[in-house]
Amino acid sequence: MKSRINLLMAGLGVLTLPGCKAPQAKEITSPNIIYIFPDQLRNHAMGFWNEEGYRQQVRFQGDPVHTPHLNAFARESMVLTSAMSNCPLSSPHRGILLTGMYPHRSGVPLNCNSTRPFSSLREDAVCISDVLSRAGYDCGYFGKLHLDFPTPNDPENPGQYVESRRPAWDAYTPESRRHGFNYWYSYGTFDEHKKPHYWDTNGQRHEIREWSPLHEAQEVVSYLKNERGQRDSSKPFFVMVSMNPPHSPYQSLDDCMEEDYSLYKDIPLSDLLVRPNANAAMDKAKSTPYYYASVTGVDRAFGMILASLKELGLDKNTIVVFTSDHGETMCSQSIDDAKNSPYAEAMNVPFLIRYPEHISPGVDHLLLSTPDIMPTLLGLSGLEEKIPIEVQGENFAPLFLGKDTSVKYPTGVLYFQNLDGEKDADGLVQNYFPSSRGIKTARYTLALYIDRERHQLIKTLMFDDENDPYQLNNLSPKEHAEVFTSLCKEMGAKLKEVGDPWYESRILDHLLEY
Ligand code: CA
Repeated sequence: MKSRINLLMAGLGVLTLPGCKAPQAKEITSPNIIYIFPDQLRNHAMGFWNEEGYRQQVRFQGDPVHTPHLNAFARESMVLTSAMSNCPLSSPHRGILLTGMYPHRSGVPLNCNSTRPFSSLREDAVCISDVLSRAGYDCGYFGKLHLDFPTPNDPENPGQYVESRRPAWDAYTPESRRHGFNYWYSYGTFDEHKKPHYWDTNGQRHEIREWSPLHEAQEVVSYLKNERGQRDSSKPFFVMVSMNPPHSPYQSLDDCMEEDYSLYKDIPLSDLLVRPNANAAMDKAKSTPYYYASVTGVDRAFGMILASLKELGLDKNTIVVFTSDHGETMCSQSIDDAKNSPYAEAMNVPFLIRYPEHISPGVDHLLLSTPDIMPTLLGLSGLEEKIPIEVQGENFAPLFLGKDTSVKYPTGVLYFQNLDGEKDADGLVQNYFPSSRGIKTARYTLALYIDRERHQLIKTLMFDDENDPYQLNNLSPKEHAEVFTSLCKEMGAKLKEVGDPWYESRILDHLLEY
């Protein structure tokens, strides 16, 4: 334990890989930023975790996936073992990511859907793209957004939804709600991976017949090359790329590329589902080879973007981040729900960041929370003065850059789960129910669940992640009272600090000591 603490205290960059020189920190000059976040890609599903130098840094066995581009990229990047999606669900994560604020402040406590009018990105929130746009960046968004309440605003059929059915998941985002993104190639939510569609900057719809990550990578490459005058080449650029796979569906060759599926199709399930908490008897288990195939396809699309950056000579002055909005349980814990739980498979996401000559390649155990991402990227771009006051995350740029700093490593990060609250006569959800809150520390995971009526404790999940990394043994609060009390105390203090509804309503205040 002591060596682990020392390791954490010693700061970023201490685990520099053999053969990688520790570069000197340099003056910051408006770097480009590319932020790539495929949907539902768990941290464990990257091949390098089974490689020398990485295997020793984590307590899990990596999934048997082929990710050659990510493996090479990792060797040039700072790789975090413990980046957490605090609210591991699509829209809430994206709301936190863009605003640096937790779900009760971002405007997005629940997944965006036309039955949930109140869950939609706040138009008055200052997003990372607003800040970068005002600072002179060209800002482009590619792929899935899933941040707007779908309204009847189809640009080609005014007054109609973009989908024929209602409730609708999909949405068109008009210019007034793009938060500084001046180049647009996006959609709300749509899950036919080989028949995607996109609305462009002018609201024109494009129907594509190609696997969406590959199409999006080509669009990003075209943007980088500026083939159609997509960007002002005198400006630095900020690009977000949200690929939908490896998100479901993942059950046939309609969902992934055959060449990727062929890598996994003949491998026995027992060799694919390597996590001891996975239940191979579940119906969902047959999705495993398709899920891994989707990961491999995403890796190829990512590689196309990296190759283009290099070819154009843009790689040196571009910060590249690879991460995901949340993970995927894929039969772990015998649950069907891929996300929205505090289990490691759902909460622990990839986080790799490359910034040549500024960030030393290595591995670090920083517990990164989603609200930290916006201020950290602004800090890395030399814009720490422009971090909005409302932002609730930390700027970890000084740690990444290896500078002297008083920034401390967080000892724990929060977990949030919200469910639909009351509904009106039309079935429209009026508010949300904050069903669970929790805390993840370097050693433990704790989540408390309450009932709707009386807000009493109905369930706890508590795991010793250090000795039980697959979370097989739910610890009893009674038998581990000291640990439980200490985790509750830390969680209560953090909920108070962020102004969470649990603190506002003093939920479980006999345990959480706000
Ligand atoms: Ca998602």
